[in-house]
Amino acid sequence: MKIPIVENILSANDRLAEENARLLAAEDVLAVNVMASPGAGKTSLIVHTIEALRHRARIGVIEGDVASRVDADTIEALGVPVVQINTGGTCHLDANMVHGSLDQLPLAELDLLLIENVGNLICPTDFALGERIKVMISSIPEGDDKPYKYPAMFAAVQGIVINKIDLLPYVEFDLESFRKLVTGLNSGVQVFEVSCKTGEGIPAWADWLASAIAEMDA
Ligand code: MG
Ligand code: ZN
Repeated sequence: MKIPIVENILSANDRLAEENARLLAAEDVLAVNVMASPGAGKTSLIVHTIEALRHRARIGVIEGDVASRVDADTIEALGVPVVQINTGGTCHLDANMVHGSLDQLPLAELDLLLIENVGNLICPTDFALGERIKVMISSIPEGDDKPYKYPAMFAAVQGIVINKIDLLPYVEFDLESFRKLVTGLNSGVQVFEVSCKTGEGIPAWADWLASAIAEMDA
């Protein structure tokens, strides 16, 4: 049986996401949708990415949050254009929220737009935002069984950042079986082992984004 209401919401979202993608492509901005559960390190990764890439790319940020603006304040302190979206309780960003934010960003002066989604591993995959790349962060303390529990998220992304890799010696986490599970769900995905605490792995991740930006300009 069809559920027309849900289908209509999703197709309206897809139309707006396409419009966002057109706006971004017209200005050669690479948009990256950053998804993860709460506490996996979305804001930390964005901060490290800005620090690693700010001399190679002009960066803007959209911060999605259910209520607060603490993360946006952190980003703003780095001197980067940032727009805060408070979803008012909604557990994901949608294309309409991002559409409103694009008006408030100097798109002509940006190469990279990092979009921090709301901390949630389920519905963000259903709502395209107009991004070119989807990435997710899965952190060591969350456990190595996350791909079993959230296969749709692991299958939908082009990049996976395994964050808090510095905690590996202290946590039961089988890195090899995690990687096997991930490639079983998503054979083409790029996996990065990163620590936002020590900076390990950040250069490889930043280089990957830099080549995606260069591809956009080509
Ligand atoms: Mg955050
Ligand atoms: Zn949601």
